[in-house]
Amino acid sequence: MKIVSLLSMDKQFITDLKLILNSTQKVVIIPHKNPDGDALGSALAWMCFLRKKNHDVVIISPNDYPDFLKWLPGENSILKHTIHPKEVRVKIEQATLIFTLDFNILSRCGDLEPLVKKSCAHKIMIDHHENPDSYAFLKYSDPKMSSTSEMIYHLINSLDKKLFSPEIAKCLYTGIMTDTGSFRYPSTTSLTHRAIANLVEEGADGDQIHQKIYDSSSFSRLKLLGITLSNMTQIKDLPIVYLTLSQEELNSCSYKKGDTEGFVNYGLSLDGITFSCIMIENESNGIIKMSFRSQGDFSVNDFARTYFNGGGHHNAAGGMSKLNLQETILNFKKAVKEIENNF
Ligand code: 5GP
Ligand code: MN
Repeated sequence: MKIVSLLSMDKQFITDLKLILNSTQKVVIIPHKNPDGDALGSALAWMCFLRKKNHDVVIISPNDYPDFLKWLPGENSILKHTIHPKEVRVKIEQATLIFTLDFNILSRCGDLEPLVKKSCAHKIMIDHHENPDSYAFLKYSDPKMSSTSEMIYHLINSLDKKLFSPEIAKCLYTGIMTDTGSFRYPSTTSLTHRAIANLVEEGADGDQIHQKIYDSSSFSRLKLLGITLSNMTQIKDLPIVYLTLSQEELNSCSYKKGDTEGFVNYGLSLDGITFSCIMIENESNGIIKMSFRSQGDFSVNDFARTYFNGGGHHNAAGGMSKLNLQETILNFKKAVKEIENNF
């Protein structure tokens, strides 16, 4: 087991990875369930790179993802477990190498978990979340990195930088942009900006990518944002807000996957608010999906792990509740009472 953190320590990981990639592999790349721009961007760029190295590569997504990610180069070759379960099972059984990207506990790949566990393939984790699990044969885990896409950028840079292409550049730019809130979160370093500068030179057009990701809302998505904002509540005397969406409200705006992306951030755009939570009812899964965002010292990763069976990063995390929406709101308020001295 190898644990690699920070660029200066990549050498052993790179050496081991090069050795493995010296022979042709049957590769499966898995992003986390409900993949976001970073999970898909990093997976697609890595697929493109490994194919140039003559490996047999497929990306298997645990489930579908929002339309605003469906323009990404290579996206149409992604197999979705929810849509092609048989083909997915065969691909995982035959794989010699499985890369898990943008997550670090196997439960984050949903129903793929038992298949991945059973597979004899070597598993390699590339990820930037805190508290990595130990399922991988090799890991490149670095919570200081802005995104898994930035990690893939550094990897390709070390392995064979002449293989960068406009396709790879667009995917990695998208992943870094979406995970850094367009290069503004504290995880954005000078290294991130250098990576972005190189990706622009390699053919990523920042203006077009921003437009495709952020300016492609449907009318009903903005209506839903209106409802979310009108449900926003501040916890008395604390710099904390929560937003809610019931299944009925989602239905009234013909909710589609991805429509609520970014809504939780509006809480933080309020003057003085440093902790924002959104609770979204998902009737078919019988859960309330929760997202947490903070600014500064308060760790929503710890909060999500302690109270809502989740995790993530210091300032951005997620979790869930199996209670109904009203009970979940009460639980959230109770949890907030326990940590109110942090504010
Ligand atoms: P989001 O709120 O955008 O869904 O997720 C924010 C961050 O928390 C992402 O990095 C995501 O991977 C992580 N995250 C979201 N939901 C969960 C969860 O249920 N469990 C864990 N461990 N991480 C989560
Ligand atoms: Mn990420």
